[in-house]
Amino acid sequence: IEEAEKFRIEYWELEEAKLRRLPKAKPLATRVALVTGAGSGIGRAIAHRLVAEGACVVVADLDAERAAAVAGELGGSDQAVAVTVDVTSEAQVVAAFTAAALAFGGVDLVVNNAGISISKPLLETTVRDWDLQHDIMARGSFLVSREAARMMRAQQLGGDIVYIASKNAVFAGPDNVAYSATKADQAHQVRLLAAELGEHGIRVNGVNPDGVVRGSGIFAGGWGAQRAATYGIEEENLGAFYAQRTLLKREVLPEHVANAVFALTGGDLTHTTGLHIPVDAGVAGAFLR
Ligand code: NAD
Repeated sequence: IEEAEKFRIEYWELEEAKLRRLPKAKPLATRVALVTGAGSGIGRAIAHRLVAEGACVVVADLDAERAAAVAGELGGSDQAVAVTVDVTSEAQVVAAFTAAALAFGGVDLVVNNAGISISKPLLETTVRDWDLQHDIMARGSFLVSREAARMMRAQQLGGDIVYIASKNAVFAGPDNVAYSATKADQAHQVRLLAAELGEHGIRVNGVNPDGVVRGSGIFAGGWGAQRAATYGIEEENLGAFYAQRTLLKREVLPEHVANAVFALTGGDLTHTTGLHIPVDAGVAGAFLR
């Protein structure tokens, strides 16, 4: 019994020592963030918020012009640099992290936000649609997270990885099987990476937005017109339409998603990992009556 008690004490002393080694959450003003898809919509709003909180931000996007424009809005090289990256390319993702390290010395906050939406009914979804959607969202965020984890572990300062997933990661609706399946993939990446990286002080969380029409390239690029046709409304009324189906009766804007990223990475949620925060004004919690 004495032996067992001694072992128990030693075990807990060891566990406590491990906990003491875990890095504390750092203020955003000391952090470097890499945000994918930051040239537009939600990613752009996240980049703006992080810079406003004092972080340095790598504005990473497939669209070089948009990335440069957003980095310009954020004041240029002091706090923001633009990097052109296709997240489906392993070599380009590695190069983006190298560019970040050269610009700001490393990365300790990564937001997997880049995305497209191929939203079609099952029988119209081609293999190419399926592959492209999964290449960008599932493979792309895997590549970005793997590189993030590599850099964060080498730095030994912990870090945050945030996935901008979707309400569709959890709830099923018609006509977007490829998009929603890949969002569910991202949601499970959050849990899997949280499990694997937690002991290195790296937290992995998700944000699940819904109905962010204003500023969204995804909505402007055809999804909005298709949804408006489905609901029998004008496309310009889509934001208001989405708002009235929420519990809060409010439209969700890109900055509301950015607020959640701030809460997870710069606020007090220091002991939260593997979790998804809905930013949908209550759609995920709503029921029809
Ligand atoms: P958006 O089109 O405005 O922004 C997406 C950005 O990703 C664009 O700048 C685009 O150039 C970039 N991108 C696309 N493919 C890329 C690639 N291969 N490599 C690098 N960058 C690439 O769209 P958004 O509405 O701001 O969406 C951002 C994220 O939020 C997406 O992942 C989307 O699925 C998710 N989301 C959006 C909503 C919404 O209502 N808008 C809801 C749930 C989830």
